[in-house]
Amino acid sequence: MKKRIYLSVPHMGGEEETFVRAAFASNWLSTVGPELDAFEREFAARTGRPCVALASGTAALHLGLRLLGVGPGDEVVSPTLTFVASVNPIVYLGARPVFVDAERESWNLDPQRLADLLAARAAQGRLPRAVMVVHLYGQTADMDAILEVCQRHEVPVLEDAAEALGAEYKGRPAGSLASVSAVSFNGNKIITTTSGGMLSALDPRWVEKARFWSQQARDPGIAYHHTEMGYNYRLSNVLAAIGRGQLRVLDDRVRRRREIAFHYRDAFADLPGLTLMPQAPWGLHTNWLSVFLVDPARLGADRDAIIEALAADDIESRPVWKPMHLQPLHAAAEHHGGEIAEDLFQRGICLPSSSSLTDEDLARIIAVVRAVARPRR
Ligand SMILES: *Cc1c(COP(=O)(O)O)cnc(C)c1O
Repeated sequence: MKKRIYLSVPHMGGEEETFVRAAFASNWLSTVGPELDAFEREFAARTGRPCVALASGTAALHLGLRLLGVGPGDEVVSPTLTFVASVNPIVYLGARPVFVDAERESWNLDPQRLADLLAARAAQGRLPRAVMVVHLYGQTADMDAILEVCQRHEVPVLEDAAEALGAEYKGRPAGSLASVSAVSFNGNKIITTTSGGMLSALDPRWVEKARFWSQQARDPGIAYHHTEMGYNYRLSNVLAAIGRGQLRVLDDRVRRRREIAFHYRDAFADLPGLTLMPQAPWGLHTNWLSVFLVDPARLGADRDAIIEALAADDIESRPVWKPMHLQPLHAAAEHHGGEIAEDLFQRGICLPSSSSLTDEDLARIIAVVRAVARPRR
């Protein structure tokens, strides 16, 4: 029997269990403890900024938006091409998303469309409260262009680096590129704490505020006294222990994910109409997922035919994210463009990308894809 190949699975490095045992030995089995402190310290050393470990990337985005002052009735600009978890926290806060199309060079928020939108809004005197930037599939957005536009209009930026831990923009790490940043340690991300996230910020007081909110916003003193709304959003000390082990292998995981993407690219080099997503010139793309764009006329097979053929061989693959402006959940939101996102969604496929894939696994996946292709040259 052939084994099932999943899209992206956890890949432990070996030291995680040592740290987890330390957590058990210390009996710090809740949301305080030495593993949490160490995980934050070690993560901060990578990005150069203070941070707070949270229960999920979504929680980090929620608190990040609140730090930027997002509240009821506000608008927040977001790329339409992203995972729904980028956008839902906008709605948690009673605000409305405004979607902007992707650009072809990186598949991320189009700086020109953003500039046009903010200029038009400035003229009307109704600028959005914040802009959310997402680094899709491990590739950073064009941050200089985006930050320049946002600074010109004094609109703060939140960085959703959930998919991009280990990526870089002009030599600087993803997760340190805006005033507030969020990453995810969900099970399918490049490294995992099973579930978890991290919020980091330039201003240490913002991190302390997020930490306070993440622990039910309990005011100092012995009484359970509350003046602000809080959440139960802190990461567990046990899961932080897993994160410490995972951080130690992050660079290896990035290397292997990139190797897998380029391995597929080379194996499909002679097939017209099957191309790896672009690698923008401004930084290191982790290729968290190996994403390809299908041109059905040239390949002689469409995206769904490839997904079905892989599924028949017990191999998981999936389309590129369905744009937010096409989601019934967010249908009422305003959107600016969206044709590029729709095209990438229609033709994009995410191939299995786990860093633990073997060369035999890759050969099996490649053989299935090649067998469906009927290239017309
Ligand atoms: C995974 C993901 C999130 C949410 O992270 P969780 O840890 O699963 O809550 C947010 N944004 C994007 C783009 C993601 O891929």
